[in-house]
Amino acid sequence: MDRQTLAEISARALSGEGITEPQALRVAQCTREELFDLLGLANRVRGELHGTQVKLCGIVNAKSGGCTEDCAFCAQSSHHRTDAKAFPLISKAKMLAGAKRAAKDGAKEFSIVTSGKSVNGKELAKVADALGGIRKLGLSTCASLGILDADALKMLAEAGLDKYHHNLETSRSFFPHVCTTHDYEEDVQTVMFAKDAGLAVCSGGIFGLGESRRDWVELAATLRELDVDSVPLNFHNPVKGTRLADNALLPALDALRVILTFRLALPARDIVICGGREATLRDLQCLVFPAGANGLMLGDYLTTAGRDPGLDLKMLSDLELGTAQETTGGQ
Ligand code: SF4
Repeated sequence: MDRQTLAEISARALSGEGITEPQALRVAQCTREELFDLLGLANRVRGELHGTQVKLCGIVNAKSGGCTEDCAFCAQSSHHRTDAKAFPLISKAKMLAGAKRAAKDGAKEFSIVTSGKSVNGKELAKVADALGGIRKLGLSTCASLGILDADALKMLAEAGLDKYHHNLETSRSFFPHVCTTHDYEEDVQTVMFAKDAGLAVCSGGIFGLGESRRDWVELAATLRELDVDSVPLNFHNPVKGTRLADNALLPALDALRVILTFRLALPARDIVICGGREATLRDLQCLVFPAGANGLMLGDYLTTAGRDPGLDLKMLSDLELGTAQETTGGQ
């Protein structure tokens, strides 16, 4: 990367505007040596636009398995035979127990996550009923309930939901290779309905599905157009029995290239590192912060175990990073 290109990338990223799509592709394709230079820039962008406070969130798997959709990576799809547990929507008490555990682990935001394309009216009401109790614990509220219409999202907002999570998973171009049972535009529309309902939106993807680096850039551009608030980045950790069981893990430096690309393309947004980081990054996990991340999911994921939250908190204190007292939850 020549000096002028690096200077142009630096200027656009530090201004908060974000790098152009050709620049993002250049970052996504950077060499090992360029990557280490770009870590310095991304770290500066994170520091100047987000400070040294890292946002921590936790989730509960509130309804598992039996999903009608055929997302190629997912252990919860009924199109796959996996060992993932299947259970109906858990009780409000169990949701609150999950929130208490997340708060104890250090999370400031908590999400109720359900499997399936969507939820029915009864399930929606049960989730809405738990929101007040989660807020009382001092947590910002988030939910990930699949594809919802405008009325459902308005109802959740009125019931005390701060943020809606709905991943686009990958680029519009690559999506047909990942899921054939619903259309990308249904996911995009859910994000738009959530924004219209006044909710903050958390939407990102999963990497290592066989997509190209152009797909990373395309997804970042779509999320920028949609003006989402936070971008969760997951790294594919292949599950036996799924369509992508034999996929290799993304190389660790490619995971850092993903984070760099999203940080520099979306400088002002929260970049949150979620599932698959332990398997993909191994000893390089702490480099997610120089690469630009300012958020971390703590504890277990939906169908795979995360690492001990105490280790993550220790990693942050070793890096002399703090934990944010407030989240972008619309509080
Ligand atoms: S990712 Fe969500 S929609 Fe896709 S199969 Fe898994 S639970 Fe269903």
